[in-house]
Amino acid sequence: MTQNSASVPATGESAPAPAPVKLRLANVTKTFENAGQNVEALKPINLEIREGEYVVLFGPSGCGKSTLLNLIAGFEEPTSGEITLEGRRVTRPGHDRLMMFQEHALFPWLKVIDNVIYGLGWRPGYRFRPRLRRQKARELLKLMHLEEFAKSPIHELSGGMKQRAALARALAPDPKVLLIDEPFPALDALVRARLYGELQDILVRTRKTIVSVTHDPREAACLGDRVIVFTGRPGSIKTEIKVDLPRPRDINDPQVAGYAGKIAALLEEGQRETIPGEKV
Ligand code: ADP
Ligand code: MG
Repeated sequence: MTQNSASVPATGESAPAPAPVKLRLANVTKTFENAGQNVEALKPINLEIREGEYVVLFGPSGCGKSTLLNLIAGFEEPTSGEITLEGRRVTRPGHDRLMMFQEHALFPWLKVIDNVIYGLGWRPGYRFRPRLRRQKARELLKLMHLEEFAKSPIHELSGGMKQRAALARALAPDPKVLLIDEPFPALDALVRARLYGELQDILVRTRKTIVSVTHDPREAACLGDRVIVFTGRPGSIKTEIKVDLPRPRDINDPQVAGYAGKIAALLEEGQRETIPGEKV
């Protein structure tokens, strides 16, 4: 037997090993310089996100949630610290980290399927193979329950359908990490409730690593495996809450509401700490 047998995983019925760390943020800060004035948006952020995890960044308006997402996407550079994806430093945008833009980012002059095919153009091996791209696009539309609307123009879709089409396009290049900034702002409550269900269904099936941003505690509780709660600006991680509920979760489920209440209480504490004078 080995001397340090405690560190050797037991064979057979041992607990599954935790998924590997996909994304690592080490002491990431961001200060914007605006007309000679410095705006400190983020204090040092340390965060590890594992493969297949759904992490929600939650905090008051202006606390740096979008900034952090933009840093992960590579649209902005950290002032200090480092972001790595699978151990490699993030320095620019890449199709391994895709931001799901809101519905208006769909091309209105293209049919639904052609929007998805456009997304597939970035995927290695697909670029110059039109038939393969069409077939893959159909699969993605099926996943989103949009196959019947493949040939529809975008303007014929409802708000929820547009959002699903945008999700299909974002997933098309098979990104390692999907980034979603306040995904469902302009939708009515019923459509949102359905989309939350569908998004979780897709998650379970694709096992994507997702980071999304919200200031809605119910959305955070409904979607997140982990909710990272930020302080007011300059944002720092105040605490995190593990949402230990089975999926798919219903946004109106009392247990989800229970977590949402806990998360909201943390936000209120955070808001009391926010220094007035935030840029509007
Ligand atoms: P959130 O998404 O949490 O509402 P943001 O990340 O958009 O917050 O913004 C965090 C802070 O950084 C805010 O005070 C905002 O005004 C500031 N900020 C964001 N982007 C810029 C920029 N490009 N230049 C200067 N200040 C910025
Ligand atoms: Mg924002």
